[in-house]
Amino acid sequence: MDKSDHIDELNRIASGLKNPVFPKIFAVELCADCDLNCSMCHHDQMKRPKGNLPMALWQKCADEIAEVAPGTNVWFSFCGEPLLMPDRLIEMLKYGEKAGLRSLNLNTNGMRLTNDVARRLLDTSLSTIVIGIDGFEKTTYEKLRFLGNRDTVYANVEFLLEERKRREHGPEIMVQFIEMEDNSKEFAQYRDHWLGLGATVKLRRQLSWGGKFETAIEVANEKRIACPWAITMMHVFWDGRVPRCPGDTEGEESAGNAWDDTLVNLWGNLRGYRQLHLDHRFDELPTRCDTCTDWKTGASVKLRPGQANHQDRPSLSR
Ligand code: SF4
Ligand code: SF4
Repeated sequence: MDKSDHIDELNRIASGLKNPVFPKIFAVELCADCDLNCSMCHHDQMKRPKGNLPMALWQKCADEIAEVAPGTNVWFSFCGEPLLMPDRLIEMLKYGEKAGLRSLNLNTNGMRLTNDVARRLLDTSLSTIVIGIDGFEKTTYEKLRFLGNRDTVYANVEFLLEERKRREHGPEIMVQFIEMEDNSKEFAQYRDHWLGLGATVKLRRQLSWGGKFETAIEVANEKRIACPWAITMMHVFWDGRVPRCPGDTEGEESAGNAWDDTLVNLWGNLRGYRQLHLDHRFDELPTRCDTCTDWKTGASVKLRPGQANHQDRPSLSR
């Protein structure tokens, strides 16, 4: 994708952004620990205490989402690996389904997606499982997804795909490839491998996580758009705190706590920030927004098995 196409894409995204009464996407941190140390992730810089989301807090959130907007895309997780706690995750998914949530989704690094866990996840009503796998070659994967094991994660996801195929229904299974300098050459091999096995391939650009990482996306500040993350997504840490946006990984600009207030009120507390974005009053936003480049990441590309144009869309390159 060249630069002008990328700017067109950002403008398309911006034209659909409004200040909604409830977020489109709700991300909840089941577990703030992680078993990997990925090169593109801020997790090893996290200073806030690590812990696990209590069932009672999830029940409170799920009940309210089900009442206000049951179609909200609910995602486990935010900063941490949810499959460190598979039993609690499955209990939470079952509760969410019973409460009436219509879109429950999981993002995992796949290392603990054992055959048993895969079968149990396929027994839930999950809509999507995204597995972050950013390399085809073992050396590339294990450099980027440090402490991960390429052969383990490939075998785990291959089993998940086979098992879903055997059942003839189940969640969409996506393998996510964050395009970076070290892995972009492998994308075609990666794409063909996973599409051939029935996975959706999701290709996306690297995030700066509130300006903690440099990214290679070149879009001039004059072309700035309202930050889609801030406008569409609400996050809840394991302890109930609601950060201003995904770039606010420590909760330094927190909107309050989900133990003490409704999600509608907490989302409402962030309304002023959203309006500043939509009015392009970027210099009135917290300074984090000066260095963060996440407003410019654009949409991911999703390639699904059976689509005709895979060869035409090999890269997001800037
Ligand atoms: S698995 Fe996820 S949370 Fe853990 S270090 Fe990697 S990107 Fe970060
Ligand atoms: S641009 Fe600002 S609102 Fe958007 S993710 Fe970054 S810090 Fe948050």
